[in-house]
Amino acid sequence: MNIMIAGGGIGGLTTALCLHAAGFTAVRVAEAAPAIRPMGAGVNLLPNAVRELHALGLYDSVAAVSVPIERLGYLTGLGEDIWTEPRGLPAGYDWPQLAVHRGALQMILAQAVRDRLGADAVTADARLCSFGEAEGPELRIGFSHRESALPTELRADVLIGCDGIHSTVRGLLYPQEGPPSSSGAVVWRGVSRCRPFLGGRSMVVMGDGDWKAVVYPLADRPDDDGTVPVNWAVSRESAASGEARSADAAAGRQLGPVPDWHCGDLALAEVLAGQERVRQFPMIDRDPLPRWSFGRVTLLGDAAHAMAPMGSNATTQCIVDARTLAHALAADPDPVRALAAYDRRRRPAMNRLQVLNRAKGPEVVIDMAHGRAAGGTTCRARRAVPAADLARVTASYARAAGSDRASVNRPSPYTVDGGLGLRGSRRAVHG
Ligand SMILES: Cc1cc2nc3c(=O)[nH]c(=O)nc-3n(C[C@H](O)[C@H](O)[C@H](O)COP(=O)(O)OP(=O)(O)OC[C@H]3O[C@@H](n4cnc5c(N)ncnc54)[C@H](O)[C@@H]3O)c2cc1C
Repeated sequence: MNIMIAGGGIGGLTTALCLHAAGFTAVRVAEAAPAIRPMGAGVNLLPNAVRELHALGLYDSVAAVSVPIERLGYLTGLGEDIWTEPRGLPAGYDWPQLAVHRGALQMILAQAVRDRLGADAVTADARLCSFGEAEGPELRIGFSHRESALPTELRADVLIGCDGIHSTVRGLLYPQEGPPSSSGAVVWRGVSRCRPFLGGRSMVVMGDGDWKAVVYPLADRPDDDGTVPVNWAVSRESAASGEARSADAAAGRQLGPVPDWHCGDLALAEVLAGQERVRQFPMIDRDPLPRWSFGRVTLLGDAAHAMAPMGSNATTQCIVDARTLAHALAADPDPVRALAAYDRRRRPAMNRLQVLNRAKGPEVVIDMAHGRAAGGTTCRARRAVPAADLARVTASYARAAGSDRASVNRPSPYTVDGGLGLRGSRRAVHG
């Protein structure tokens, strides 16, 4: 079976590797960018994604460039603890939660695709622009190129749209949909160099009900100068004003109260001062879809279910999508039925997660603390909200995301017997 993947981000490259592990070898990835380059800042891989990367034989290479996040704290702007929980191995998972630079992960995946599927398995400068039925069951897929005025057309039995939140494949399937939805919030994101904080393996989410900061390290060991790269994202809900959108945000001058926030040895002023490059984004997502799979065409990752950036799920879920889809294709010789089965297995849970993330996912505990604590940041947040309520929110969110301990500590259900899987997916990180 010839399989064409549109998009060489984390979702597309992982899909190629999952298909290979499931026994498919005629797999090609077409990427619109002129080259696969290490773009972006930090992403988190929850243990359910790490288990699947291990099953693909990629655990060691990804872990070597990651930090195992062992503690997650939700705090007020004053640094008061709202909710803190262990993550990964200290929380009893068989797999860690890994924080990694998106670009480093993408380059590891791209190299693995070339090693396993061949040097020409990934084609850059190939933007999918159309698809339609050819004679027989095949698809005709059209590409445009920057370097060549001539469009090309390729045939494939299956097309998987992994082309991100602005997906062309999705746009062709849903021509009335229009651009992504915006919440009105703005996010500023960067990677700084600063001293390790809170033991070196902590992720912190601080907020005052309007401003929010998310901070986590991207290296486990400091360089000779004692610093590590630190991923940070600052967002403001009511950021529709020109003031908040000002380019001065890059210098930390327009980030409201955030530079004054601190917690233990973590000082946001230090993080923001050590920034290398800041980018500003609108907070956008997509509505849940009634269907992802249409005949021999389907959607995956952000193209299928772009969600508000809460709970570290975008990258994690595209990896789980990829494993589910490859398993479905290996389990049924009819690709139309297989794509429908993938849709049935993944879409309901992702639709629900999209809705939960619009309502801030687990980060809603910050609003709960501020809503119930008269005086906002100036009162004792932990006492304001019963711990049992906070525990319920975070636990039910983890179940919705498939990242609860009971689900993750089972063997991967996606490994294909007789496929080209490189390793079993049973406990390898500890135990
Ligand atoms: C450049 C970039 C930087 C990012 N940085 C971060 C970050 O720092 N932190 C974070 O949490 N998330 C980041 N993300 C988003 C994150 O990667 C995704 O939310 C998540 O990994 C799901 O990945 P995906 O493969 O579904 O989508 P994406 O990562 O968006 O990948 C989609 C890929 O498809 C390609 N593409 C688009 N249109 C076409 C087309 N018509 N034909 C062929 N290819 C096409 C894009 O160039 C891209 O490589 C970034 C995404 C991109 C594209």
